[in-house]
Order: sequence, then structure tokens, then C-alpha cells
Amino acid sequence: MSRIPLVAGNWKMNKTVPESLELARAIRAGADGADGVEVCLLPPFTSLWPVRGELEGSSLGLGSQDVYWEDAGAFTGEVSPVMIEGWCRYALVGHSERRRLFHETDEDVNRKARAARAHGLRPMIAVGETLEEHEAGQTDAILSRQVPAAVAGLDVADGSDLALAYEPVWAIGTGRTATPAHAQQSCARIRELLAGALGAATAGAVRVLYGGSVTPANAAELMAEPDIDGALVGGASLVAADFLAIIRAAAG
Ligand code: PEP
Repeated sequence: MSRIPLVAGNWKMNKTVPESLELARAIRAGADGADGVEVCLLPPFTSLWPVRGELEGSSLGLGSQDVYWEDAGAFTGEVSPVMIEGWCRYALVGHSERRRLFHETDEDVNRKARAARAHGLRPMIAVGETLEEHEAGQTDAILSRQVPAAVAGLDVADGSDLALAYEPVWAIGTGRTATPAHAQQSCARIRELLAGALGAATAGAVRVLYGGSVTPANAAELMAEPDIDGALVGGASLVAADFLAIIRAAAG
């Protein structure tokens, strides 16, 4: 099954609106129409709509860094899928910073993914083990819990409507990248778990990304692995030249 690689830039809580427009413009200039790769930007909520304008008419997609599961109501500070449907392509859910700093549970992640899907957004679900779990050899156990919980009851007609991101927490923002072998093993395991939950045909079409200190120097060897279908990029997505080099590596 051939899957078009997906490279997503998670800007986290960085970039004012003018800075976001400048970065989006530079990335569009270098990546619009790139062959053999899908590119998606995940700016902070304040920049989503302005960046949408900057990307209009290009091949680049847009995604939110999170989304709430309710459509509307008294949920101060939250953003609903209704507010971004139709013009955002992806909604990232389950990022380890959300799980760790904001105490999101597997059940929360699942509710968010289902709400996103119900509004035509493609969930991009992040999973992965902490350093402590990694050192205790629990990667498989963590993935075996997180993946089925995240996709339970998810309505994915076609696996291309869904992306998973294997993000070992110890590799995020640390400069300590997983080895291609460990990343491949984990991404293959994620696909196996998806097959159990959603069926083999759907799992074969889902893009499983690697995230965790991806740079222009290590992107190509990670994405050369058969079950790694792209990258979720944090720090390096804030520098247009670096992000563009990762996109080129994904396009092969
Ligand atoms: C991330 O936050 O999803 C991430 C992978 O960050 P970084 O690339 O900075 O490690």
C-alpha cells in the first residue's frame, strides 16, 4: 500500500500573527505544489484564520493543535470543531504536552478524535511512551493501551482520513531522536494495533508519522523506514529553511 508522506509543523505556543504570516509565506514559497508529499501547518489558534488566508490556493493544509469535543457552550478557553470545520484539514489531539501538562486522559483524546471526525476534520493522534516507560521496556504496553483507546468508535471511512504520530516523549524537544530502528518498530506496532481496531485495509492507508527532534540531518533516514510515513515536527518547523529541508527529505 503506497501512502503519500505527510509532514506537519506543530508551532506550539509560538509566533504572533505577523510572525505566523511571515513563516507561512516562506514555507508556501518553498513547498507549494511539492510532489510526493503532503504538508500541513499547525499554528496557534490565534493564527489559524490569518494563516488560512496566506495559504489560500496552495497545496498546503492547515490543522489545529487541539480541539474540544463539544460543539458549543460554557467551556471557557476551548475551541470547538464547528469553529474550524471546512477550512482546517487536520486536528492534532493527544500531544504529550496536552496529556502531561493538561492532564488529558486516553478517554479525552478519544472524545476529541471522534468530535473532529464528526466534523470532517482528520484526527492526527499523538501517542508515545515517557522516558521512564522507555527505560522500563514498556513502549509496547503503552502503545497497546493508547492506540486502541484513541481510535475506539472512530468513524474513518478511509484510513487516509486519519494520521497517528509516534512521539516518544523523551525525544520531544530534547535533541534526542529515536533510532530509525526503534521508531520503525513502534510505528509498525501502531499499524498492527490499528489493524486490530479498524481493520487491515484501513490501517494500511493510515499515515503513521514519527515525531521527536526531527531535523534536516535525521529526517531522511527516519522516513526511509517502511512504516514511517512522514514527520510531526516541532522546533524545526519554526525555521522555514529547516522545515523545507524536512519536506524535501519526505518527498524523497
Ligand atoms: C512535537 O512537539 O510534536 C515535536 C515533535 O517537537 P520537536 O520536533 O521539537 O521534538
